Amino acid sequence: MSLVQERTINRSQMQVSDEVAIQITNMNKWYGDFHVLRDINLTVNQGERIVIAGPSGSGKSTMIRCINRLEEHQKGQIIVDGTELSSDLKNIDKIRSEVGMCFQHFNLFPHLTILENCTLAPMWVRKTPKKEAEALAMHFLEKVKIPEQADKYPGMLSGGQQQRVAIARSLCMQPRIMLFDEPTSALDPEMIKEVLDTMIELAEEGMTMLCVTHEMGFARQVANRVIFMDQGQIVEQNEPEEFFNNPQSDRTKLFLSQIL
Ligand code: ADP
Ligand code: MG
Repeated sequence: MSLVQERTINRSQMQVSDEVAIQITNMNKWYGDFHVLRDINLTVNQGERIVIAGPSGSGKSTMIRCINRLEEHQKGQIIVDGTELSSDLKNIDKIRSEVGMCFQHFNLFPHLTILENCTLAPMWVRKTPKKEAEALAMHFLEKVKIPEQADKYPGMLSGGQQQRVAIARSLCMQPRIMLFDEPTSALDPEMIKEVLDTMIELAEEGMTMLCVTHEMGFARQVANRVIFMDQGQIVEQNEPEEFFNNPQSDRTKLFLSQIL
């Protein structure tokens, strides 16, 4: 928790707009017979920074993976930036280019340089010319403070650097929404701060963010809303102060007593 406390957060840019970014209505998902997500209802406005917390196996990853359709839901509705997620494949391309995702294990292409990792999707999905894609990649590598690593391969970088590349790679698609799934969980403690700082800067610039994370210091300082999931349901949600100081359900109280 101490990791982000030393940084002064600029909240002036973190305005929540009236515009809805993600609307999830009565969404259900099964893995075979296993009912993994149950009646999820969630509205996320542009500019919100949402932290999703909950015990292991509660469905956090599955829920955010449904938002960019890495997983399919079976019942209910998910609308992202005005586009309903359905089996219509041309919608999927649109969603994937508007929703960036960053995973626990960075998932960089090991045989491509850092620069090539960053230019691949803009060139192939957006058809951005190579020179332009490279300039964009360098812009975002500068933003995550590792432009000097552009010609190296992922295996030559530290975990924290690789995660920042993964964030830069997502930003190269100029997404309107960023999803993070435990982006710091695989990192050594001394590298967590550099990744959280990058995420804080994104928040300060007004990015709409959904972050599954155990970094409750980040949640307190950056989130405007914390969502608690258990057994495939959203059990409780509140602004951070209320969520941490005045949890409502017994399940939330138990969870907080175990992690804080
Ligand atoms: P969390 O991210 O909160 O730890 P997950 O969304 O990864 O939870 O998983 C929720 C539940 O779904 C767990 O019980 C997990 O074992 C199960 N699960 C996850 N992925 C699959 C899958 N591809 N097939 C079957 N069950 C899965
Ligand atoms: Mg998970």
